[in-house]
Amino acid sequence: MSEVRTRFSPSPTGSLHLGGAHTALFNWLIARHFHGTFILRIEDTDRERSQERFVDEILEAMHWLGLEWDEGPYRQMDRMPVYQDYINRLLANGSAYYCNCPPQDAKARQAAMARGEKPKYDGHCRDLNLPPGPDTAVRFKTPQTGVTHWDDEIKGPIAFDNQELDDLVLLRADGIPTYNFAVVVDDLSMGVTHVIRGEDHIPNTPRQIVIYEALGATPPRFAHMPLMLGKDRAKLSKRHGALSIMAYRDQGFLPYALVNYLARLGWSHGDQEIFSRQELIDYFALDHVTKSPGVFDIEKLLWLNSHYLKEMPAPELARAVTPFLAGVGITDPDQDYLAKVVPTLSARSKTLVEMAEAARFYFLDPRPYEAKAAQKFLSPASVPHLQEVAARLKALPEVSEEALNQLFAALVQETGLKMVNLAQPVRVALTGKTASPGLFEVISILGREETLRRIETAIEYAEQGKSAQ
Ligand code: GLU
Repeated sequence: MSEVRTRFSPSPTGSLHLGGAHTALFNWLIARHFHGTFILRIEDTDRERSQERFVDEILEAMHWLGLEWDEGPYRQMDRMPVYQDYINRLLANGSAYYCNCPPQDAKARQAAMARGEKPKYDGHCRDLNLPPGPDTAVRFKTPQTGVTHWDDEIKGPIAFDNQELDDLVLLRADGIPTYNFAVVVDDLSMGVTHVIRGEDHIPNTPRQIVIYEALGATPPRFAHMPLMLGKDRAKLSKRHGALSIMAYRDQGFLPYALVNYLARLGWSHGDQEIFSRQELIDYFALDHVTKSPGVFDIEKLLWLNSHYLKEMPAPELARAVTPFLAGVGITDPDQDYLAKVVPTLSARSKTLVEMAEAARFYFLDPRPYEAKAAQKFLSPASVPHLQEVAARLKALPEVSEEALNQLFAALVQETGLKMVNLAQPVRVALTGKTASPGLFEVISILGREETLRRIETAIEYAEQGKSAQ
């Protein structure tokens, strides 16, 4: 096979969402699988709806996901001379003509659709041989008979009757190309070999193929991906908890969890769920992409996210959680300290946001204690136990998890108390809660001095309870 060239060509009329990222990923994977080239192209010819901030956001999201491109980002608005060149070719070979009919407005299109007809151009200027003028558009002379078909890499054979197609505008009177024309010119001139995009583009494909044919060019291979649905099988939207890619970042998802999640949506490799990046590249192929839509499942995404949080080396995880700590009042945390903290939290957090929240007590006073926890475990009755733990902790030659284990085991034996009755008051004193990472881990990370300080504070709190009674 000659070099494989794929492209992702978003329109900057909104943020990059899951559907777009899914398309981008499949194109990226095919390019990487075949050691080919992945092109990024910004389709910004919709002047009213395109915005520069969306271009920036899309590029940021692509970087964040790690979907690096090899060429681009090309911008269609920078390529006007190329489109003009192809228009000239089509005019010269009789496949296009000038047309001065007023653009069909939205109302007329809606009226046609209401009558159950496809809104079609009536071909008024097709044989008039009009010269160019200030208000002339260029239309394509669509073949009026025959069938246009292709063998879709995902959907299989698809055919359209040419009668269903009308003479579409290629270049508007303002000189800006329409989507179907610009895409053909770009894919052709950029040597794109595989067009992989959402199945909502299937009706555009015959329109594009006839333009390739008029240019004497071979169309690329087409692969139309099933769309993503919500659990109720309706088109995926905010309602289903689907967010923009940047919103997933802000909610504490790891980019690779999202990549792994999206790769498995509509594609499978046996029963495997967890893939390294290299495995995805090695195994990914269009013939294992399903025809039916993928259903977005946030629980599965959370499961993958917690998996990758657990897998991440501590220093890297510390760096990843740092921006989220600011949200709970911890700025510029010591990275070595944080690298000790995060492994104690990674099994208990599904997102970096949850992890930051859970990390709070390692940095800040755990008060106010959780009301129920304090009521149950910081009562006057717990004061002697807390005092005893403090006294023994002071005397410990070295604070290690092993030594703490022995300390508590001895206390249990000597007092006849249950471990939970000894440990829980200390846990609440240190973390403010009844559930936390392992107590001995917490004490070793906080250190003897801070642990004793927090136990003292808890004793005072518990004694106040006594005097209040
Ligand atoms: N710009 C189009 C879109 O955002 C993509 C067109 C294509 O992939 O051919 O839907």
